[in-house]
Amino acid sequence: MRIGFIGLGRMGGPMSRNVLLAGHDLMVHDIREAAAGELLAAGARWAGTPQQAASGREIVITSLPAPRDVEAVLLGAGGLLGALEPGSIWIDMSTSVPEVADRVRAVAEPRGVGVMDAPVSGMTAGARAGTLQIFVGGSEADYMRARPVLAAMGDPDRIRHVGPHGAGYTVKLMLNLLWFAHLCATAEVLSIGVGAGVDLAILRDSLLASPAASHFVACDVLSVLRDGDYDEGFALALACKDLGLAVDLARATGVPAEVSALVEQIYRRARAQYGDAGGEMLPIKLIEDLTGRALRLRPDGAGTDRTDPGGYHGSSRE
Ligand code: NAD
Repeated sequence: MRIGFIGLGRMGGPMSRNVLLAGHDLMVHDIREAAAGELLAAGARWAGTPQQAASGREIVITSLPAPRDVEAVLLGAGGLLGALEPGSIWIDMSTSVPEVADRVRAVAEPRGVGVMDAPVSGMTAGARAGTLQIFVGGSEADYMRARPVLAAMGDPDRIRHVGPHGAGYTVKLMLNLLWFAHLCATAEVLSIGVGAGVDLAILRDSLLASPAASHFVACDVLSVLRDGDYDEGFALALACKDLGLAVDLARATGVPAEVSALVEQIYRRARAQYGDAGGEMLPIKLIEDLTGRALRLRPDGAGTDRTDPGGYHGSSRE
């Protein structure tokens, strides 16, 4: 198919590369022309404006930081809305909210242009491997037409039509909100337990064997516990954006959201402390810095030997 792709960052770069590798004809655009270098070398063509990226394309995909960027690309001067042709589909794969897409739809649908939200989960590693989870909001017909292109970027078993327009954005925001809440709660629980003298590996193993187990404790927290890696692949600025949008959604639905609001504040504190580009797991470091104790498994074992309480420990930062 003829595809346009706008936003070639940490996610959009490898996602668009997988679209190209799947054999599609690809036009790309970004405000940073340098971001397209490898794609152009691999056979994509450069579009100087969003409109050029949309002209003559069957599907146009955006992967942009925030709703204001989606707004600029779709509705701003030289925006791609003006170039979307009858029969084409615009797919927004950004983590965003429906307001901009709804305004685009009001103009696009009477002209026979489809609009879909299809945000993703799976981090930069999933974007590179083409194994993203994708949550699609929009019509069934547009979803079926776009599915082969989505399958170039995601795991076919985890690409799901989750409901009408906006449902994809909502599912993605709720996923991130719960994950960030898991992170904040886990950081506190591990720090309290280790501070009270329990070995970190034994504490984690015990949690994993209990009703309090979670995917976060089993898998995601290991990048910090093993490697001190706070995941710069997803920036704190974007995490704060997602949490702000999730709390806005809670406000719009009238649902009280005390825990969500607190998680947002913890993330805003981490962003103020470590900067916009800091990794999404840095709220763990906030509590490590406060307690003076880094949460690290010792590298000399698998972390399951309960007969050796000295096998792992939360090491001191000093
Ligand atoms: P990024 O900041 O690395 O990339 C965004 C790209 O958009 C950049 O290349 C930037 O130059 C470009 N851009 C910004 N404004 C533009 C404009 N007006 N016109 C054209 N290009 C413009 O961000 P990312 O990490 O790739 O995230 C993209 C989206 O995917 C975000 O909505 C994010 O929340 C979501 N997301 C990210 C991850 C992750 O792990 N990084 C995971 C899931 C979802």
